[in-house]
Amino acid sequence: METRGLLVVVEGVDGAGKSTVLKRLAAHCSQNWPEVVTSREPTTGPHGRRIRESAVSGRLPLEEELDLFLRDRREHVDTLIAPALSRGALVLLDRYYFSTAAYQGARGADPRSILAANEAFAPAPDLVLLLDCPPAVTLERIRSRGGGADAFEGLEALEAVRSIFLSLEHPSIRLVDATQSPEVVSEECTAFLEALLQGRLSWR
Ligand code: ADP
Ligand code: MG
Repeated sequence: METRGLLVVVEGVDGAGKSTVLKRLAAHCSQNWPEVVTSREPTTGPHGRRIRESAVSGRLPLEEELDLFLRDRREHVDTLIAPALSRGALVLLDRYYFSTAAYQGARGADPRSILAANEAFAPAPDLVLLLDCPPAVTLERIRSRGGGADAFEGLEALEAVRSIFLSLEHPSIRLVDATQSPEVVSEECTAFLEALLQGRLSWR
């Protein structure tokens, strides 16, 4: 086995609190791990930009959208994720291929095939923190903060996205009740991460 860092992913519907938790996790981890790298998907690269633009200018056909997500992720893996992991870094990601399975699954693609297509090239995460929250709550959070542009989907589609997230089977998924306060959500996520770090540090 090659020396490898740790890959930790935060997933959940728009407004579930991913960015909020990620900031707190990054701050916590930098005290415990020599190198912490944070990133997000879609990326700021050319494919990621096209995906973001399409959320505003009009959604692309499903196959085209799926293809862009895969291209964006390949580039992300090649340029950032894989090199960081081989340096031994702790990589924290805001969304990964579980989001593709859930969102493009909600548009009609088969979630299991999406996972399989990604697992063929993308490093498997050591921990997936799935922030679960009813979309009615998350959309209200976004609305009350004057957002809206953040939401890739409407309520009905997000309900479908949420059920697919909950149906995904992966040994690294840990479910977190994201209706709780940001403090409690972060504490639960930190505890899952801490358990993972302890396991790693003990054999280092
Ligand atoms: P995401 O990155 O999943 O879209 P954010 O972290 O941006 O979600 O949070 C969306 C909004 O909800 C922000 O305004 C944030 O301050 C707020 N928020 C985040 N977590 C919680 C929480 N646990 N309870 C209430 N509001 C929250
Ligand atoms: Mg966010």
